[in-house]
Amino acid sequence: MKITALNGFKDIVPGEVELWQKVETAARDIFSRFNFSEIRMPILEKTELFARSIGETTDIVEKEMYTFIDKQITMRPEATASLLRAYIQHGLHVQKPVQRLFTIGPMFRHERPQMGRLRQFHQMDVEVIGAQNPRVDAELMAMGAMLLEELGVTVSLELNSLGCPACRPGFRKTLLDFIEDRYEALCDDCKRRSNTNPLRVLDCKNPSCRAQVVEAPSIQEHLCQECSDHFAVVQKGLQQLGVSYSLNKFMVRGLDYYTRTTFEFITGDLGAQAAVGAGGRYDGLIEQLGGPKVPGIGFALGMERLVLLLQQKKGAETVQGEMDLFVAGLGETASHFVFPLVHALRRKGLQVAMDHEGRSLKSQMKQANKAGAHYVLIVGEAELEQGQAVLRNMDDQKQTDIEIGTGIDKLSQSLLEICKPLDKFSDILTKRI
Ligand code: ATP
Ligand code: MG
Repeated sequence: MKITALNGFKDIVPGEVELWQKVETAARDIFSRFNFSEIRMPILEKTELFARSIGETTDIVEKEMYTFIDKQITMRPEATASLLRAYIQHGLHVQKPVQRLFTIGPMFRHERPQMGRLRQFHQMDVEVIGAQNPRVDAELMAMGAMLLEELGVTVSLELNSLGCPACRPGFRKTLLDFIEDRYEALCDDCKRRSNTNPLRVLDCKNPSCRAQVVEAPSIQEHLCQECSDHFAVVQKGLQQLGVSYSLNKFMVRGLDYYTRTTFEFITGDLGAQAAVGAGGRYDGLIEQLGGPKVPGIGFALGMERLVLLLQQKKGAETVQGEMDLFVAGLGETASHFVFPLVHALRRKGLQVAMDHEGRSLKSQMKQANKAGAHYVLIVGEAELEQGQAVLRNMDDQKQTDIEIGTGIDKLSQSLLEICKPLDKFSDILTKRI
């Protein structure tokens, strides 16, 4: 019987993996421009970490976590909690008052798999810990927007403020009064939420709940003076940096730890999976997890969704393999000769392949073509005796006879001879050889 991967768990195979690399390379480049350092955490953490940070009554903790119940450990459903745990554990605040950290890796949530929604998915997560200034909020959102723009992905940025422990309870009460009158029209989830986490009713995806909350009070109008000032400077900062955004009073986010700024990068091209990235400020969380009293803000981008968007892009480049040189040895003697030659060329930095199956010239040329080889070195037995070989430029089909040695002692001469006509790579080659 064939064994297949679990539902919601996906292999990323060659041909697709190149897009993942593209996304990751672009992200690493931009994160370093903004002065972020990488951090890597384990995938398993104590369950309590997520219960205490994400919140006991959130969807993630209530029903989406992969937990080994007997061991009280959980496969991380998101990165922020683990990252903060590491920050606290290693006293990173002592090294630098403001830490700018990013991490890239898999997360696990037991959700219903669909396009852009998996059970193992990948996030690129960035966090700034120790910065209170609202300009940092704007800077972070601008960084996300810059990355998405460089990847050629079109999204809109939606912004809200969730206030702070000083003003949110007041709003919660106002909202509860509003919800009370509409309670019977809400879905079962929202009926339950209105007791535990009434703000979540605002971002329920159920159309009838949505209709009920259209007229709901806006938290933006119930912020305390400090939160309101903060929110104003965030928006001013976005304007200064030329980042367009819209305000969304319904955006609550599914994690309890957010305070003040929350935001999402939204696409219209992935059906229900509209959020490409999301994040916000979590000023009380580090202290709540036993760390120093420092503020923090961060966001995570979903890599599956980014890759889907890149795949959907009109005229998306088909990813094709490439290699510098394919060495076609014809017959056992020639293969025996080219075997160390290929190794030496690789040591020089060239990307080289050869055939080990004794295939015909025709079949090896096909192989070279498929691999995207720029050059093919053809070494036949008769030519080899004369110290000769043919180098074929696969881009213009021109062939050149070249001198190669007749033994391993001539290897370096052969290398130079082989490399000389590869003028396309002359710059690299002079450096490498
Ligand atoms: P959604 O509303 O789509 O469920 P979320 O609010 O649960 O998203 P976050 O916890 O904020 O998502 O995670 C940040 C990003 O990670 C999301 O914007 C999304 O791109 C991605 N993401 C979250 N859950 C999944 C999943 N199950 N599969 C693929 N990507 C996901
Ligand atoms: Mg979710």
